[in-house]
Amino acid sequence: MATKEKPYQRPVCHCGHELLLFEEYVNEICKVITERGKVGHTLKRGFYINEPRRTLRCLKCRNYYDVKFDDIGRILRGRKHSARRVHTWTGAAR
Ligand SMILES: [Zn+2]
Repeated sequence: MATKEKPYQRPVCHCGHELLLFEEYVNEICKVITERGKVGHTLKRGFYINEPRRTLRCLKCRNYYDVKFDDIGRILRGRKHSARRVHTWTGAAR
């Protein structure tokens, strides 16, 4: 059964810098809705670990990439993203 593993090279950015693995977890905040339909006060905060969203990032040029795995589960560089996706909170508190 023991087949010889193919040599592995850690994923590298287009700029030549080594990539790091980032995992994003969900930080959930439960809030009430006010009588006027606005975002109200915080009821509880939750932090849950489901399946984190993973990306590969370059700390030098800030490129980031999808994470892919080869047939034996080793991390490979996937599709490149040109700009970091930004999550914004659009609900006004008052
Ligand atoms: Zn780079």
